[in-house]
Amino acid sequence: MKIILIGAQFSGKGTLAKKIARDFGFKHISPGDLFRENIKNGTEIGLLAKSYMDKGVLVPLEVTVEVIKNKLQSEECAGGFILDGFPRSKEQALALQEISDIDNVILLDVPLDEIKRRCLSRRVCPNCGEIYSTTTYSKPDCEKCNTPLIQRDDDNWESIKTRLEVYERETTPLINFYADRLFVVKGQDDPDATYEPVKNFLKGKLK
Ligand code: AMP
Repeated sequence: MKIILIGAQFSGKGTLAKKIARDFGFKHISPGDLFRENIKNGTEIGLLAKSYMDKGVLVPLEVTVEVIKNKLQSEECAGGFILDGFPRSKEQALALQEISDIDNVILLDVPLDEIKRRCLSRRVCPNCGEIYSTTTYSKPDCEKCNTPLIQRDDDNWESIKTRLEVYERETTPLINFYADRLFVVKGQDDPDATYEPVKNFLKGKLK
């Protein structure tokens, strides 16, 4: 199955995508992660992407589509995939149509004031990618691999505000674009409570 996950920053998209990937065996693909991997490896794409990411704006279409296309056409995605963070605009959705047919689109719906509350508390492990919130996890090191947790370079208020505006302007039109295959779920504080209806929906689709 080929799935797209849509949600604003801090809606819990990454966490939900990981649960779906774990239980259903679909490959989890996040352009943000792919770009960060390129930055870490010092590639040309990484260098270019970083200049946009630090400002909180979208990386140019051709670069993003190239990175995503290579991934979707790789063997890793043969058993299905869940796209987390792509497409983020109608032009990206049109480009994706040329690469793959999408079966289901999940919209993770979280009110703006809740997003604001969550945004400044996010910490990530630079080694294994685990995500934490300082409201529920107060230790300085990753629970899984003991690496000191960091705040992402682009997790600052100015950048976040820009990213939320970009989401509103560029990404919300996708709700209409994918209206014929859209499943809407309320994003709750408890990730398992958010996941439950999604799991049931996907199981129903696989029958
Ligand atoms: P994320 O990890 O999803 O918060 O994304 C971090 C940054 O990566 C974004 O602010 C963008 O600069 C870039 N990025 C992620 N997804 C996309 C996309 N679909 N198109 C263009 N740029 C993206």
